[in-house]
Amino acid sequence: MSLDHKVIRIELPTPFPIGPVNVFLLKADKVTLIDAGMKTKEAWNVFEEALRKEGYKVTDIEQVILTHQHPDHTGFLEWLPSDIPVYGHKLVEPWIYQDEEFVQQHSELYRNFLMEFGVSDDVMEEWLRKATAAIQVYSPKGQKLTGYLKEGDTLPYASDWEVIEAPGHSLSQLMFYNRKEKVAFGGDHILPKVPSNPYLEPTIQNPKPTPLLDYLASLEKTLNYDIDLIYSGHGEPLSDIHSLIMERIQKQHKWALRVLQAMGQGKKTTLEVSAAFFPDMYQKAPDFIFSEVYGQLTYLEKEGYVELTKNEEGVLLWEAARVLAHQS
Ligand SMILES: [Zn+2]
Ligand SMILES: [Zn+2]
Repeated sequence: MSLDHKVIRIELPTPFPIGPVNVFLLKADKVTLIDAGMKTKEAWNVFEEALRKEGYKVTDIEQVILTHQHPDHTGFLEWLPSDIPVYGHKLVEPWIYQDEEFVQQHSELYRNFLMEFGVSDDVMEEWLRKATAAIQVYSPKGQKLTGYLKEGDTLPYASDWEVIEAPGHSLSQLMFYNRKEKVAFGGDHILPKVPSNPYLEPTIQNPKPTPLLDYLASLEKTLNYDIDLIYSGHGEPLSDIHSLIMERIQKQHKWALRVLQAMGQGKKTTLEVSAAFFPDMYQKAPDFIFSEVYGQLTYLEKEGYVELTKNEEGVLLWEAARVLAHQS
């Protein structure tokens, strides 16, 4: 790995089940921080200490590049000196700025999804609170991007790195690809030990996202790049990307078929399928479970395994297609 001397991986603690998160110091034409960790005192202290060990301090950072908007990758933006330029996908901005209008809109759009999933009025507020808690507690506030990055751009002051859009895990997910070295920063697009969760994140620009379908398209797209190594947002760097992607695509298909099996006969709401498939989890982590189950259902529908209708209240109803019900 000829880039070793230029990339420093710093692992920071998070309170999330995924475990520690990585930020990277990239020594390019400017000292560049890839991602901005977690807004906890503990993570910040580990960050400062790691920089010190490498002979840097926070004020040496000349720019920040964000892989996506999630709080474990943007959290301590508001603790960095405010004159450091910050770049990312334009969809990152509302999540790190979080004005009242955005929070309100996101809440309304999420409420809409929960209604469509079959969550009843009497428990709606509680579910909505659970589903949006992590963003409100850990995301930075009042932060703006200095510039937007999109497909085909190169990183400012690090022109060896091309920007690749890889929506799915999040709509703002980017990869940064060094074609010469065959190395990429992948954010959470591909993680070492577990599949990336394509999160349901409705916004006014994308009120009806289908994250799993986006994610699968982005995985296919990634196969077009010759990548020897990915610096992932969590865990050790990854090699042998192509076989890992093929494996993840196959596993996802199998996983979807298990959801199909759990559905049984008849029309089911997303909530009912979630309860059948994740009986112990669905009430504890509804954002995670709904993202997962809704994702799999949209996949099953696209592939013709499931038929989708709506009842008169607007609740989505999923039913295993008859042809397949006979086959199984
Ligand atoms: Zn993420
Ligand atoms: Zn992450």
